[in-house]
Amino acid sequence: MENNPLQTTLDSPSVSVNLEELNPAQRQAVTTTEGSLLVIAGAGSGKTRTLVYRVAHLLEQGVAPDKILLLTFTRKASQEMLWRAGNLLNDSCGRVTGGTFHGISNMLLRRYGHYLGFGSTFTIIDRGDAEGIINLLKGSLGLTGRDKQFPTKRVLINILSGSVNKSMAIDDLIYEQYAHLSEHVDDIINLDKHYREFKLNNGLMDYDDLLVNWKRLLAEVPEAQRDIAARYSHIMVDEYQDTNLIQADIVRLLAHGHNNVMVVGDDSQSIYSFRGADFYNIMRFPKVFPDTTIIKLEENYRSSQPILSLTNDIIRNATEKYTKTLFTKIEGDLKPRLFAGRDEREEALFVNRKIAELQNEGVELTNIAVLFRSGFHSYKLELELNSSGVEFEKRGGLKLTESAHMKDVIAFLRLQVNVRDSLSWNRILLQLNKVGPKTAAKITDRVTMADDPLSALAEYPPGKTWKEGMAKLVQLFYDMEKESAPGVLYELIMAYYQPLFEQIYRDDFPKRQKDLDQLKSIISGYEDVQSFVDDTTLDPPDTVEDHGKQTDRMILSTIHSSKGLEWDAVFVMGLAEGRFPHMAAGIGEQMEEERRLLYVAATRARKYLFLTYPRQLMTPDRQFKRVGMSPFLSELRAGLFQRIETRDGQRSSGFDFSASPSRTVPAYPRKKKKQKLSVKDLPQGTRVTHPFFGEGTVKKSGQGRSVDVAFERHGIKTLHLDYAKLSLC
Ligand code: ATP
Ligand code: MG
Repeated sequence: MENNPLQTTLDSPSVSVNLEELNPAQRQAVTTTEGSLLVIAGAGSGKTRTLVYRVAHLLEQGVAPDKILLLTFTRKASQEMLWRAGNLLNDSCGRVTGGTFHGISNMLLRRYGHYLGFGSTFTIIDRGDAEGIINLLKGSLGLTGRDKQFPTKRVLINILSGSVNKSMAIDDLIYEQYAHLSEHVDDIINLDKHYREFKLNNGLMDYDDLLVNWKRLLAEVPEAQRDIAARYSHIMVDEYQDTNLIQADIVRLLAHGHNNVMVVGDDSQSIYSFRGADFYNIMRFPKVFPDTTIIKLEENYRSSQPILSLTNDIIRNATEKYTKTLFTKIEGDLKPRLFAGRDEREEALFVNRKIAELQNEGVELTNIAVLFRSGFHSYKLELELNSSGVEFEKRGGLKLTESAHMKDVIAFLRLQVNVRDSLSWNRILLQLNKVGPKTAAKITDRVTMADDPLSALAEYPPGKTWKEGMAKLVQLFYDMEKESAPGVLYELIMAYYQPLFEQIYRDDFPKRQKDLDQLKSIISGYEDVQSFVDDTTLDPPDTVEDHGKQTDRMILSTIHSSKGLEWDAVFVMGLAEGRFPHMAAGIGEQMEEERRLLYVAATRARKYLFLTYPRQLMTPDRQFKRVGMSPFLSELRAGLFQRIETRDGQRSSGFDFSASPSRTVPAYPRKKKKQKLSVKDLPQGTRVTHPFFGEGTVKKSGQGRSVDVAFERHGIKTLHLDYAKLSLC
């Protein structure tokens, strides 16, 4: 199965890992191969590097690759790390398992879930799906209506999920954090019961279930525990500060018997408490594993001294911190710059202008990133970049699969793997003209309860006005039944769905069509539908907005999605009062988390750091309001940054903001001509790039318009040239 956990296949080691490339503390962490190990250290001190070297070292020491488990925060991170470990060994060694907690759990539950009463064909639901179910249940339990003042689906999911992730009873959580909703406690507990039943009856699991059920397998099913614990002799976890209590328990249970577990983290970078992450897990680790070796890394290898001085100062003001102040040997005299724009537009103009200057100085676009608190903070900048022709990729915004039309298409594929997924039935039936929620619910019930759901659908007596639509739908499912190739299924679905799509989204379907095209290109790389459905829910790709197809493009990212990464030049935008910290942050722990968020952002920079904010913001009722700088900036010691202000500010910037930035190098450094590829252009060994799978090498071509490509990060895929969007490297 190619879904989430990644298994890299490499050959036998040929080059030895050079431990001289590590400092003594890092070396100790790499060479301590038995027992429990905690590396606690600040940003850029080489925690991730240490993990990469340790994987390579373990392999070199003869540990079987399939005995190593690397748990990371995103799938991409584990792919990157295993790729780097492979490089250290000159492409050597075998099947190391790497992925997120959710991805590994998915793999294990498909195999061992039967011990807990689950079939192997459960469907994973995302947050939007979960909210949809809650809404359905609210209706059926009579909890809707104005007089009820019952919380919204979003708040309800926050409560239910919070109780799971924080390991707290629902009533305790409500009394502690949602006291104003106390009168609804009984109804919320009842709703939770129905939500659980609904998921069970429909073969659905939400993200929390994946963790809870993995833990249950390990804690409650001795056969499964023995089997799973025996699979992995060496466990490693990156970004441990962002694990929650269930994940910490999973790690404890997994390592039971050998205790060969290494976790690395930085309490100062814990930014996911809203998902139940608890950085005290780091402090508890030595108590859970009493003979833990604790290693602190104090040298920062990423940032220049002026940047490090500022980031040390951001975290100096934190109320609680355990890691030490870092030092660096990387000198530099470029202090971080602080810029206050008159408004958001001027802030955007400044960033755009500076990017041009950096390019003129020789900094590549790929080495530049702009970070912000929330996705919408970059809208003005996106306009500027577009008009200057600067190509960028935006990360952390809306996920490709979150929009309604994408969910529409995926619903058909979800039914292909789990025909009892009533959420998907409901969605598909509602697409039919003249079918309303009541009828859709009735048909869904009938179909999902039947022994043969498709016959039940075919036999359902349709209304006159939607008879024809229903007949087409039934035919589609009969056609799909005979197929298994994801690409072919997609074509069948689109032949049915396209006219409905153009009708349902008649105002903006051409814009939405681009997403469907992207989906087509992604799907064509999958061999089985289950893997595709799992991947798109567990690790949905970001919406690739049409801002350029080049590989040489800069990154625009939410701070949350920038974790663990680094660039030569980093801009942190929107550092205004009310925007950063987030308005709703209040005081206390949430405020502290916002501070850590700024720390994460600023510590991504190697050589250049720009902090910017607008001096006025538009309020929701479209009034302009003057704002000051973020309190986190006003707390910083004088002299740690250099101010630049606009012409009407106290200090002159020397910029002419009215003119567009002039670039002595083009915004598109190496623009390649768009070409339509044919099989002839792609002999074996050709290097190619794909928008989703990245770079790879052609392994086989021939067979009509299909080629087999070995992707570095995703393994071998068979791609059809008509829709795979391949280009030459
Ligand atoms: P973060 O907390 O942001 O995740 P980290 O502690 O994981 O950071 P890394 O990303 O592993 O740090 O390392 C930061 C940078 O420093 C990387 O470019 C890495 O290659 C480099 N680096 C780390 N250790 C060394 C070393 N001993 N010699 C040279 N470069 C190093
Ligand atoms: Mg790291």
